[in-house]
Amino acid sequence: MKYIGAHVSTAGGVENAPVNAHKLGATAFALFTKNQRQWVAKPLTEDNISKFKANCEKYGYKPEQILPHDSYLINLGHPEEAPLEKSRNAFLDEMQRCEQLGLDRLNFHPGSHLKKTTEKECLATIADSINWTLEKTTGVIAVIENTAGQGTNLGFTFEQIAEIIEQVEDKSRVGVCIDTCHAYSAGYDLKTEEGFQKVWDDFDRIIGFQYLKGMHINDSKKELGSKVDRHDSIGVGTLGLEVFERLMKDPRFDNIPLVLETPNTEKWAEEVALLQELAK
Ligand SMILES: [Zn+2]
Ligand SMILES: [Zn+2]
Repeated sequence: MKYIGAHVSTAGGVENAPVNAHKLGATAFALFTKNQRQWVAKPLTEDNISKFKANCEKYGYKPEQILPHDSYLINLGHPEEAPLEKSRNAFLDEMQRCEQLGLDRLNFHPGSHLKKTTEKECLATIADSINWTLEKTTGVIAVIENTAGQGTNLGFTFEQIAEIIEQVEDKSRVGVCIDTCHAYSAGYDLKTEEGFQKVWDDFDRIIGFQYLKGMHINDSKKELGSKVDRHDSIGVGTLGLEVFERLMKDPRFDNIPLVLETPNTEKWAEEVALLQELAK
């Protein structure tokens, strides 16, 4: 079963996310559980929590169909102590919000070295941050998203992600989300049939499909290996429609949230329907 949806708005409260997803005809969705551009947010109220759960129940969304995304401000690999602590606390808050909402996974961008430390050190810091957070929470998987490799962001190779996972103590609570646009921009040639097979063979060998807990389904505005993160609508970017057809027909991507983060929100219902058609 393919779970297909989009990163929907929570305007008016988190409880509106499942409603917005349902309006798109989606069988999956992503959301921010707080404002993604602010460090501190009001705690979720009992009302938010019970309505969120009731709406998920009403529209048939189980935790495995939902992929919350953390704030863009958090850098779990920060090379300096005070900002690292701030990031860890914010990440812990986000994990706790997921716990409160009954969700089982939280998607995040691994972190950036900011040219102040080595890649190896930064990856170790990210793993330490994950370990620190997992100790203080239960039931939520920390889901590492691959990046385009823009700036000093790490996590743009499967090897880097594997190096983080290797240092996480509780392997049952770490996972991976592959963003198709980021992968292509980072140099993974998903576009050709041959390239597609090789990328996923490499993924399985280096990371392992057992860690795949979600995907971001985006076309790209930029060329292969550009290291620039610019999403495009499905089928109109440099990746093209065939990649998404291959993904939708491939059972290795069953039973995880497949989430659009494409730029034109008005096309989401159409894009969800298109992907659902391709999955048949
Ligand atoms: Zn992301
Ligand atoms: Zn993404």
